[in-house]
Amino acid sequence: MTRPTLLITGASSGIGAATARRAAPDWDLALHYNANLTGAEETAKAARAAGARVTLISTDLSDPANVAALFAAFDRDHAALDGLVNNAGVVDIAARVTDFTPERVARMVAINLTAPMLVAGQAARRMTRGSAIVNVSSAAARFGSPGQYVDYAATKGGLEVFSKGLAQELAADGIRVNAVRPGIIETPIHAKGGQPDRVNRLAPMVPMGRAGTADEVARAILWLLSDQASYVTDTVMDVSGGR
Ligand code: NAP
Repeated sequence: MTRPTLLITGASSGIGAATARRAAPDWDLALHYNANLTGAEETAKAARAAGARVTLISTDLSDPANVAALFAAFDRDHAALDGLVNNAGVVDIAARVTDFTPERVARMVAINLTAPMLVAGQAARRMTRGSAIVNVSSAAARFGSPGQYVDYAATKGGLEVFSKGLAQELAADGIRVNAVRPGIIETPIHAKGGQPDRVNRLAPMVPMGRAGTADEVARAILWLLSDQASYVTDTVMDVSGGR
């Protein structure tokens, strides 16, 4: 039987990399990354060892025009697409809204909202009945992230509304669309936002008393992609330890 193909954006690190490793026994993988070739290659090596056929695609999604290049590369190696994890995303250094610059907001919106919308559209064109999309949102969409990155929270809120609309558009085509909303998860994203201690600082505020792991988010994503979730579309699943 042919193995299904899964495209994961931002698969060089954190949640995307964990999702690739979890998916590898069951899916062939197109792993997208931006700059972290080492991380992408490590993920690919682990996935190949687990049985997946893997291709790597590097594109900078801060320019949404590059989505075309991503799919041109995808089409060179893959005849079909069965799953998409729209995961690539960024935060920025903590700042109040009064200090936001146009450059900061434009970059955040491009990577976290414009690109995922275009990626999902291109993915849906290549999908057939039974395929599924998971958009990676954030608990920030519920909290608004005041004093940290309200712009980030706003992009994730937008992604959830997009996810809802797309789920409704594609439901009759048999393509399911859902989102996950991770809470505080141990990945490199916090250090990239200038807060390497963020996980330790916030973990005690989580009802479960700890941060989550990237693998715990990956398991939720893979469930939503799987036939186990065959009647689940237009949902947002919190993976946040009760927070
Ligand atoms: P991460 O470890 O920093 O990984 C981010 C991924 O996005 C990397 O693969 C990175 O690629 C890619 N990326 C960054 N800038 C990009 C660009 N300009 N173009 C294309 N790809 C780019 O972060 P993570 O924590 O796993 O985050 C994954 C998703 O989960 C994000 O959407 C994030 O908002 C969401 N999330 C995370 C948490 C958390 O606590 N960790 C909580 C809620 C939601 P390179 O490394 O190759 O540059």
